Amino acid sequence: MQELLASDQEIYNLIKQEEQRQADKIRLIASENYVSLPVLQATGSVLTNKYSEGYAGRRYYEGQQVIDLVENIAIQRAKDLFGAEHANVQPYSGSPANLAVYLAFIKPGDTILGMALPHGGHLTHGSPVSISGKYFHACSYALDPETGLLNYDTIRQTAIDNQPKIIIAGHSAYPRIPDFAKFREIADEVGAILMVDMAHFAGLVAGGAHPSPVLHADVVTTTTHKSLRGPRGAMILCKAQHAAAIDKAVFPGIQGGPHDNTTAAIAVAMKEAASDEFKSYAVQVVQNARSLADSLLANNFNLVTGGTDNHLMLIDLTNKGIGGKRAAKALDKAGIVTNYNAVPFDKRKPTDPSGIRIGTSAVTSRGFKEQEMVYIGEKINRILADIDNNELIEQTAAEIKELCSRFPAPGLEHIS
Ligand SMILES: *Cc1c(COP(=O)(O)O)cnc(C)c1O
Repeated sequence: MQELLASDQEIYNLIKQEEQRQADKIRLIASENYVSLPVLQATGSVLTNKYSEGYAGRRYYEGQQVIDLVENIAIQRAKDLFGAEHANVQPYSGSPANLAVYLAFIKPGDTILGMALPHGGHLTHGSPVSISGKYFHACSYALDPETGLLNYDTIRQTAIDNQPKIIIAGHSAYPRIPDFAKFREIADEVGAILMVDMAHFAGLVAGGAHPSPVLHADVVTTTTHKSLRGPRGAMILCKAQHAAAIDKAVFPGIQGGPHDNTTAAIAVAMKEAASDEFKSYAVQVVQNARSLADSLLANNFNLVTGGTDNHLMLIDLTNKGIGGKRAAKALDKAGIVTNYNAVPFDKRKPTDPSGIRIGTSAVTSRGFKEQEMVYIGEKINRILADIDNNELIEQTAAEIKELCSRFPAPGLEHIS
């Protein structure tokens, strides 16, 4: 990046600092990852210069000789990877992808049913602060207060009572695997569209380490940058019968020109995700989450639902007498990056909830295995047991930096 250095040292230096931070720290934010250098290169390519409103063969600007080919490859790879009848790879990110689905199927004021945000759902599933909760009549299902698990009887009853036009399955902070067949039954019973938002676990689905929602759902949305390890972006997969409605909703419904550089990077990431190496990654992500969960349980941490079946877990810190925010800040200083997160039926406020959320996608991408998970569990325990010990925090950060230097992260191989 010598040219960037010469033209804008300020931003160059900040990018270098961020590279170093990503190299030196144990990144456990469940939605984050490390993309490969090829994905970075496609993202940073001249495809960012092109405008291509419309779809291959029916664009509103000339000069699409290359872009049409790129987008068609991305679409084909997405369809092959997930076994989908149709794919739209243009959504700018997960939130607009979800909005496009609503635009495709419902009108303002219609009812949607999703998982409550404080129970692990996403803002775009009908939270009152989101357009999805302001423009639509949003109702939500809660987790079982005893088990912290999805309760399909409750979901079914909520669906019957509210008659939603769309039922949304999928989550940002649920450590178990939804039963997509059950959701399908409930949607059929009330005549709703079933939308599955697999933003978090799409990489596990691609790698065969998580059941696929694609056969059960009318439409599946996903980000491409979380466990799937692609660029910032999103995709909508759907049955052929909904293809025209979905495409029209994305463009011209809510977007203008697609980000062609991102489309190319999605294509690159889908090729990577079809490899045997990626399958091993996906399996290891889940194994690592289990090991980390076991290590935390052994250190007397409470995990929501008692563990995990996917890439993430939620630690309820109530028994440790520490708020989630304070814990996350101390861990970050020690080189372990997490986010504070509400736990189901949290008694504390959302800005300082009782839990932290932890995911294993990024650390698995850099090659961490079970042994490192046990190490991380022990470090989290040591820091949180002695949270004001700055000496311990500094010493831990140094140790973690040393550990990380032995596991070069994808895209950051040039940093020692
Ligand atoms: C992350 C996420 C999104 C939104 O993605 P952005 O790219 O941040 O807009 C949507 N749905 C779920 C379930 C998510 O976890």
